[in-house]
Amino acid sequence: MDINSLLRSLPKVDDLLKREDLAALDHAHGRTLTLEALREALDATRAQIRTGEVAEVSAGAVAADAAARLAAKARRSLRRVINATGIVVHTNLGRSPLAESAVEAVAEVARGYSTLEYDVGSGERGSRHVHVEELICRLTGAEAAMAVNNNASAVLLGLAGLARRKEAIVSRGQLVEIGGSFRIPDIMRESGAKMVEVGTTNKTHLRDYENAITPRTGLILKVHSSNYRVVGFTEEVALEELVALGAKHGVPVFEDQGSGVLIDLAKYGLPGEPTIGAAIAAGVDLVSASGDKLLGGPQAGIMAGTREVIAKLKKHPLARAVRLDKMTLAALEVTLRLYLDETRLFAEVPTLRMLTTGPDELARRAEGIAAAIRDACGDAYDVTTAPDVSRAGGGALPMEDIPTTVVSLAPRQGSATALEEWLRTAEPAVIARIKDGRLLLDPRTLRPDEEPEVVAALVRAVRP
Ligand SMILES: *Cc1c(COP(=O)(O)O)cnc(C)c1O
Repeated sequence: MDINSLLRSLPKVDDLLKREDLAALDHAHGRTLTLEALREALDATRAQIRTGEVAEVSAGAVAADAAARLAAKARRSLRRVINATGIVVHTNLGRSPLAESAVEAVAEVARGYSTLEYDVGSGERGSRHVHVEELICRLTGAEAAMAVNNNASAVLLGLAGLARRKEAIVSRGQLVEIGGSFRIPDIMRESGAKMVEVGTTNKTHLRDYENAITPRTGLILKVHSSNYRVVGFTEEVALEELVALGAKHGVPVFEDQGSGVLIDLAKYGLPGEPTIGAAIAAGVDLVSASGDKLLGGPQAGIMAGTREVIAKLKKHPLARAVRLDKMTLAALEVTLRLYLDETRLFAEVPTLRMLTTGPDELARRAEGIAAAIRDACGDAYDVTTAPDVSRAGGGALPMEDIPTTVVSLAPRQGSATALEEWLRTAEPAVIARIKDGRLLLDPRTLRPDEEPEVVAALVRAVRP
């Protein structure tokens, strides 16, 4: 057939819509996306006819192409993935998974109305701060507290509220960049505070701060080096000394702690990060931290400090711009409540549970997964287990390798890289690591119920 006859023989959209397979998809996904997919499939076929790639028109082939396009269009963009990387607070994969009870609380307030800003006792308007303020105060010893959208907004609000049109002193060793777009000098500029850098990259002394204090000084800022470490000859001024200096000159001290830690993790075999409570005990006026790093809750910025400072920040116009929504507040309240009982805490908050899973349990789980892969896939992979390291991630505990046992596999046909790509584009996606030409699966970040899903994905990868 010549090109023009082929083009004329293409099925019409209306006729395609009458096909049983497409009518079902139309019903499932709606007319807009279905028509778009059909038109794209027809355009693609038309182009292939013109280049000679298609020499015979088949309505079935056009329908199948449209169905594939429709499936891609209808697939949710934000969806679950299985994290087999061993990086616990994986920023790109959504940081901390929530505890089941937090998930339930989110669903409950999302589904209906809630006490978000309503005091059932008085029948009058309430404040959304009440749901977490008392809990944060209990857990940190602070006089007052609030929570905002994330720690970046907490830092912005803190700087704007305490040091706008004034000078904020910060050590050159702490001018950090986090996650590519959060840089202390940039946030400082946006807040309206004038940054005064003191000391050098590796050493800053108390006298450096003291020499920089002028009548225009509004704040001393300390930033916790959560995603890097300056090693070698280094010197930082302790928070207590900064607090004493601030008190002497009537200048408030604000610590951006990064990873929000509420309890002493050293007790549980993890490196001892500073806690929010320790900053409060040291006497800071304000401390801020993330809700979804080591704290294990939703994305949020925890702010704790003196009554006077928090009252001022709550009234700041930016506070409204960075306030928390009801779903996040629900998740944060439940997560904070879990901290009231440390035995439940480590069983229920996934981030803490994964970070403290013992080496024996990880080795046993890795062996179990390896055996299941051998059972299900026969000879398709060379499967072993090997010692390796997991990471806390999320700019938390940057230097710490946490020992683990991984499942290490190489496909007998094709490369580990091709397998890695296949797994990450599968449904659900399985995100794994490649090392020395082998694919590594770390059980630390897998929920036990996800292990069979990983095995099933590996089965499909060899028998699609
Ligand atoms: C992670 C981090 C931030 C940013 O916190 P988000 O909750 O991601 O906005 C700010 N400061 C420090 C020191 C951090 O580690």
